[in-house]
This record gives sequence, C-alpha cells and structure tokens, in this order.
Amino acid sequence: MKNMRENRRSHILAIPYPVQGHISPMLQFCRRLDSKGVKASLAITNHIFNTLNPKSDGHVHLLTISDGFDDGGFSEAESIAAYLASLEATGSHALGDIIEQYAGTDNPITCVVYDSFFPWCLNVAKKYGILGASFFTQTCGVNYVYYLAHHGKLSMPVSSPLIDIPGLPPLEIGDLPSFVGSPESYPDYVELVLKQNSNLDQTDFVLVNTVYELEDKVIDAMAKECPLLTIGPTVPSIYVDNRISYDREYGLSLYHHDPTTTNWLSTKPPRSVVYVSFGSMANLSNEQMEELAWGLKQSDCHFLWVVRASEEGKLPKGFANEVAAKGLIVRWSPQLEVLSSEVIGCFFTHCGWNSTLEALAMGVPMIGMPQWTDQPMHAKLVEAVWRVGVRVNVNKEGLVRREEIAGRIIEVMEGEKRKEFIDNAQMWKGLVKTAMSQDGSSDRNIDEFVSKISSSMK
Ligand code: UDP
Repeated sequence: MKNMRENRRSHILAIPYPVQGHISPMLQFCRRLDSKGVKASLAITNHIFNTLNPKSDGHVHLLTISDGFDDGGFSEAESIAAYLASLEATGSHALGDIIEQYAGTDNPITCVVYDSFFPWCLNVAKKYGILGASFFTQTCGVNYVYYLAHHGKLSMPVSSPLIDIPGLPPLEIGDLPSFVGSPESYPDYVELVLKQNSNLDQTDFVLVNTVYELEDKVIDAMAKECPLLTIGPTVPSIYVDNRISYDREYGLSLYHHDPTTTNWLSTKPPRSVVYVSFGSMANLSNEQMEELAWGLKQSDCHFLWVVRASEEGKLPKGFANEVAAKGLIVRWSPQLEVLSSEVIGCFFTHCGWNSTLEALAMGVPMIGMPQWTDQPMHAKLVEAVWRVGVRVNVNKEGLVRREEIAGRIIEVMEGEKRKEFIDNAQMWKGLVKTAMSQDGSSDRNIDEFVSKISSSMK
C-alpha cells in the first residue's frame, strides 16, 4: 500500500484542437508539467496520429481519440460546425473511456486540460468528479473581447468607430478580431469563439498561453471574471529558461522543414534577412501573393519566405529563380531556429499568436500583415503596445500593394525607428524569458496549477 501511494502522481489529460497552432502549445505545456512531476497525456485525433505516426518522446504520453473523421480529418467535414459537432459526439465518449481506463490505477486522471474550443470537455470531467482546465491559445486581449461579446457587454456588429475595452488601447473596428469586427462573414466561427466563455464560471482553471507582463492590464480585468493563470510562452525550454534539457524543438509537426534553410541563413550578415511566413493556414489571393512577391523584391533585402505547397501555384512564374541572389523560398521552415538566428532583421508575419509570441520571445521586430481571426488585434498590439514594429496598410480594394510592402520593410530594417524597435524587442525578450524562469510570473502560475491538481488527488 505504501509503495502504491509513493508511485501515485497527478495526471492531466490534454485535448488540443487538431491544428498545428493549438497542438504545439498544448504539447509544450504537457512537457512543462512533466518536468514538474505531473504525468501528462496528450490525446490527438486518429487522423493526425495516423498521418504523423509519431514516436514517443519518453515524457508525454500520446493517446488517440476519434473526431468521427478518422481517414481525412477536418477536410472531410462539410463545415466547421459539422466537424465540431462530430468531435463533441465521438470525443466525449472517447474522453470518458480514457478517464475510466485510468481510474483505480496509480495515475488516475486528475484534470482534463481541454482546448477552449471544447467547453463540453468540462461536463465530462465533472461527470467523473475530476478537475477541468480550459486552455486558451490566443492572447488574453482577444479572449477578453470574446468574453465581453458573449456576455452582451460588447455589441456585435460593432457600431462605434473607436472601442474602449479595459486594459487595451482604443481599438478601431479593423483592430478587433475579425469574428467581432465583421461577424456576418463567419457565423460558425463566431459561435465557436463565443462559446469558449459558456462555462468559464464553472471551470477550475483558465490557462492562457500568454505572459502577464505583455498584457498585465487586460489580464487583471479578465482575472476578475474567471480563475485565470498565464502560463506562456509555450516555446521549447531551450529558448527561454533552458531547464528542460530535451525540450529543444516542437514535436508533432504536421509539416517537414526544408533542410536548405539553415545553411542559407548561415551565409548572411547579422540582422540582414526578412523572414516571411503566414503560418499554417493563411490562404492569400493570387493578386496578393504577386504583390507580396514583387514587394519583397523591391525592398532589395535578403528574404526567407515560407510558401506552403498549397500556395506555390500563386507565385509569379519564374519568381524563385529571378530572386535567387536575394531570396530563398521554402515550403516550411524550422521557425524557432530561424527567429533565434542573429541574421534575422525582422519578421513579416500574419500575426498568428504562436508566431507573434515566438518573435517576442526571440526579440525580433515585426511587420504585421494580418488576415483574419485574432490576427488584426495582435498586429495592433505589436504596433501600439509592444512597439516592436508596424502594421501594413490595406488599400480600398483590400490589397496590400507592393510599394507598401517594400516601404514598410525598409522602414523597419533601415528607418529612423529601427533602433527603437530592436531595443523594445530585446526588452520584451528579457521579460518573456524571466516569466518562464524559476519564480517568474508564468512559472509561479504553473506551480500553483500543479499544486492544486496534486492536492485534489483522492
Ligand atoms: N511554423 C513553422 N514553420 C513555418 C511556419 C510556421 O514551424 O514555416 C510554426 C510556427 O513556429 C508556429 C506555428 O507554425 O508555432 C504557426 O502558428 P500561428 O499561431 O502563428 O499561426 P497559424 O498557423 O495558427 O495561423
């Protein structure tokens, strides 16, 4: 009996939304918990498991659940609403089965850490009398906007030209997450993001992949409404505190790095390269891709541009060869390694939250060209709050023209404010590293989470 007790440790089951930008932060959080003595299991969909055929890292235990689309995943579903309904129907049984499977063992599941897109997981956790933690992969500012909209404190569609939200700078409609700025365009997504708030008053923890120092005022405002703990940045330990020796890169990558990237970068002078990436999902129009291509060329800077295979057909004919002396185009890059390289001068980004937080953690100035969802607000924060770069202007036709692209690159790489952007970026880098280091704000919050789930073990 004594031995059994000694072997017992708390056990969390993490369930991410099955896209790259949600899987990586949760897997990283699992690694962090493992390093603090918690057993961590991550449940991914059968489709992703079968596609990746991942090997265990010896730390985070991988499990599978069905989303009802085991062969093709999300792309087989008719709509986002149909996909989510199927995932909830099959996933809630699968989640219950996993919890039952571990009940009575040395490592019963003590807490379900579920993607904030899956509020139904809390019902399953409560049915089994265990804790639930909603895990948010977006900034607290964005979460708070959705929170206010859900509770009718921010009317949609937004009618006033300037919106005042506690803890945030005055926002124009175009600075808001697009689901709030133009809700009529995305009914399914509006429902999804508002529903994240449906049971925040009942969940045991609200974990947010952000850093207190980056958003202190809005975090203080939202923490009055729910049990919020900031636990980011969920980048591998080597880039922040270096306390988890094996945690050197993201696991479970749905794409393959291009091996030419590292060598190419190694031949470039410090702060000379513009790194361009729009993440794993953005889908630019043909015309916008062309403008971007010619804008990069016109800037006359070195550039490393990630163009996913599905976007390649939109490049101007012969472009890669034409710019070969200055630019390298790859299908996927080892982004953390790239951003941490001294040759990178700025990051031309869609401002997905992982990318933005990674750039803040590495001290890299940014040029934001947001596309949709939470990205416009991150671009606003980059420019107006963190002051580490600029946001491009979009013309009346909804396009960012080549002159604007080239001009903004030159402004950040060579302009008057270059030094200010670099200095600010370095300052945030220091604060972000400290947050994740021993006794930093995120580290303390993770310890608090660990202590509470451990003391809940029966
Ligand atoms: N990423 C990468 N290589 C690339 C492009 C992106 O490793 O060439 C990673 C990046 O580091 C980040 C994630 O993919 O962790 C993209 O997440 P983000 O939230 O920025 O954007 P999303 O893909 O969700 O739009």
